[in-house]
Amino acid sequence: MTKVAPGRIEMITGPMFSGKSEELIRRLKRARIARQRVACYKPNIDLRYHRTAISSHSSQTHDASTVTTVEDLRSALFPQLEEIEVVGIDEVQFFSETIIPLTVELVHLGKRVVMAGLDTTFAAEPFGPVPDLMAIADDVTKLSAVCMVCGAPAIHTQRLGQSRELVVVGAAGLYEARCRTHFQPWIDDSKSEQLELPSVP
Ligand code: ADP
Ligand code: MG
Repeated sequence: MTKVAPGRIEMITGPMFSGKSEELIRRLKRARIARQRVACYKPNIDLRYHRTAISSHSSQTHDASTVTTVEDLRSALFPQLEEIEVVGIDEVQFFSETIIPLTVELVHLGKRVVMAGLDTTFAAEPFGPVPDLMAIADDVTKLSAVCMVCGAPAIHTQRLGQSRELVVVGAAGLYEARCRTHFQPWIDDSKSEQLELPSVP
């Protein structure tokens, strides 16, 4: 049996609005310009815009299949794996940790795996499998957004409103990017002064 040259794991991370999906779409489009065959997936938790594409807040899109679990991703990918050179995954933070061994398996089968996902939750805690994926990646791109209070580089995702559920899917109006100074992990109803945030200039 001929030994396959290993592929490459690329992790694109940062807060919401930092351009992760844009960067993933850019890399996948370049791969296709290089005539490489691309398969792209996203978890079905994120149906904000499209069921058959990933999209960025700047309205760029790339075809993608929606899958519910890592097992579904495997079942969708493996029948066509021989033809695929590049595997893209967006919103990877929503998958279980079984995405980690699948990624390792794919890289040893010679695939380039390009993933995008949030590094931290709205509570500033590491998000799902992303820290482990960053650790095993060949390359990590950590992007920042623009703080909606002061315009500085933002590393945090601020949830606006009271919900403490880990997953409340949405974008503008529900979340915004914040720098360390203006990030408030918990907005407590009982301390109303905490709700008085400076307005965006
Ligand atoms: P992510 O996937 O990281 O959430 P996207 O790639 O979907 O980000 O969107 C990035 C785009 O979002 C930017 O190019 C810009 O047009 C827009 N955007 C909106 N709010 C912000 C912000 N606070 N900081 C940076 N970009 C923003
Ligand atoms: Mg995105």
